[in-house]
Amino acid sequence: MDFNLSKEHQALSAKAKDFVEQVLYPHEMECEINDGISRETHQKIIQATLDWGFNAPNHSKEDGGQGFTIFEQTLLNEQLGKATGAIWDALWYPSYPMRFATPEQKQEYLIPTCQGKRRDAYAITEADAGSDPRQCVTRADKVPGGWKINGEKWFVTIGDIADYFLVHAHVDGDVDKPTVFFVEKDLPGIEVKRTPLYTHHFAFKHPEYTFTDVIVGEDKILGEIGQGYEMTKDWFVEARLGIAARCVGAAIRATEEANNYAANRVQFGQSIRDFQAIEFMLADMAVEIMAAKSMLYRLSWEIDQSNDRKLNHAHASALKLYCSEMVGRVCDKAVQILGGRGYMRDQPVERLWRDTRVDRIWEGTSEIQRVIIGGQIKRRGLDIYTGW
Ligand SMILES: Cc1cc2nc3c(=O)[nH]c(=O)nc-3n(C[C@H](O)[C@H](O)[C@H](O)COP(=O)(O)OP(=O)(O)OC[C@H]3O[C@@H](n4cnc5c(N)ncnc54)[C@H](O)[C@@H]3O)c2cc1C
Repeated sequence: MDFNLSKEHQALSAKAKDFVEQVLYPHEMECEINDGISRETHQKIIQATLDWGFNAPNHSKEDGGQGFTIFEQTLLNEQLGKATGAIWDALWYPSYPMRFATPEQKQEYLIPTCQGKRRDAYAITEADAGSDPRQCVTRADKVPGGWKINGEKWFVTIGDIADYFLVHAHVDGDVDKPTVFFVEKDLPGIEVKRTPLYTHHFAFKHPEYTFTDVIVGEDKILGEIGQGYEMTKDWFVEARLGIAARCVGAAIRATEEANNYAANRVQFGQSIRDFQAIEFMLADMAVEIMAAKSMLYRLSWEIDQSNDRKLNHAHASALKLYCSEMVGRVCDKAVQILGGRGYMRDQPVERLWRDTRVDRIWEGTSEIQRVIIGGQIKRRGLDIYTGW
């Protein structure tokens, strides 16, 4: 059994690290100070992403993406997660379900999105529908030649820079007909309701939108009527692995920063790393990362070999839960090691600590991951985890 990365994988990881350090890090403080990046910076990153060959890693070359395997995406995401302010989101991963688009929809949406000419945002969550999307009240009703959409969507990440949405709506208001629609952002009837401020300073915004009698054509359904949840579930595996990989990257950067600081900071006439209290924190951080990374790499590799969607889903929940909680513990210790400086916003550890809090909330909260894992243990037995 050889657990070493191949030469190609090592080269990809090194290239991704260079990209993050050379292209993303220079804009971190701009993002922190302005709570976002300028249009000009965004354009620069789009161009660099294309130049470095990192656009749409999750879609096929045929559709204009890079056709990366899940394992390759993990290597890239691990490096991306080191950047603060979610500047990594300027490197686009067009929504996974678009691979189920018709050839015409691919021409109109997926291909230009992979090429960096368009940008999608995925809108499921509503005021009363978060962990339980069956509570969505956004509906689509048949009208001659198309569909009429009414409702409201919350937390639409990158809504500010997207030019179209993938809107999750219930056809005829029927919870058993969850369906995803392509909706151009500039259609009449779409309004920004509010753009809330969040804990993190994110490269882009997460506005709330209202949809009032928004008319879309017959051809704007992605997949089939009623397929909304299935497509989203499939996507959860990829999205949760992406979060887990970014959490591992964030934890590594925070630990490197804390380790360097501890080596150079002198109090009571000695380097603080020589206090056992500090050394033990660094030891715990390193071990946490080692455990999370082992799980991340193995599962990413396995998912590339496996067609067992349900098992992949069960394992991805465990990974997302563990890595998102791990990064919280690691970043918290990193802040502690830097003392008062760890509480300053110009320190990457402070930003990583704040940025990674959301990883326990989005794409399924930690509690929802535990609900999934608990349910799988009941249904399939403990062995799918303990015998892994
Ligand atoms: C910054 C940010 C960006 C986001 N981007 C997007 C986006 O682009 N598109 C989108 O559609 N959504 C997005 N979301 C929404 C996100 O997916 C939801 O916030 C998340 O799913 C949780 O839903 P909720 O906030 O309504 O919390 P709720 O579901 O109301 O949960 C509240 C609390 O109850 C707990 N809880 C709920 N159900 C259970 C249960 N069965 N068992 C135990 N505990 C439970 C939760 O774990 C949580 O602790 C984003 C959220 C944030 C914060």
